[in-house]
Amino acid sequence: MDTLFHGVVGAALCSRTGLAGGRRGPVDGQGRRIFSDWTLWAAFFFGILPDLASLGIHFSMDLFAGDGVKWHGIPDFVFVLYNLTHSLAGIAVGYGLLVAWKRALWLPALAWPVHVLTDVPTHGDGRFMTPILWPFSEWGFVGWSWWQYPDVFYGGWIFVGALWLAVIALRLTWRKK
Ligand SMILES: [Zn+2]
Repeated sequence: MDTLFHGVVGAALCSRTGLAGGRRGPVDGQGRRIFSDWTLWAAFFFGILPDLASLGIHFSMDLFAGDGVKWHGIPDFVFVLYNLTHSLAGIAVGYGLLVAWKRALWLPALAWPVHVLTDVPTHGDGRFMTPILWPFSEWGFVGWSWWQYPDVFYGGWIFVGALWLAVIALRLTWRKK
């Protein structure tokens, strides 16, 4: 799916403000809320990281060169980074390093595998088919590319809306007690 979608889904699932916060949410002893919940912003960041650290580099180089954003002429190293960030092997290494560095990242960094798992069915055959088994196999699931199937794109965003409604519903059950 599109990069923003991944950020918003990651935040909805893998932050304390989101579903991972359960009924209570991110409120701490001092009653501090969303803006002090670093896991919300971290989950958003890890949600967009796989695209940011691959295609994002290409697009920002285009922008700095004043060429505008182009989908053609993407250099090979960007695809290496795309494989790294969109494969189970790359995730295992990256996630392992992140959690070894800071333990508390275990929750928001889960937005990274969530990104890749949602890319698997929403990317069809072609250069952007999710290289889930890289570098061991070229195999990929031939999904329904979100940029070709509007139903997939809008369905995805309706799903995100439902996720956040579920978060709100959860919090309401906490307050009623
Ligand atoms: Zn992606």
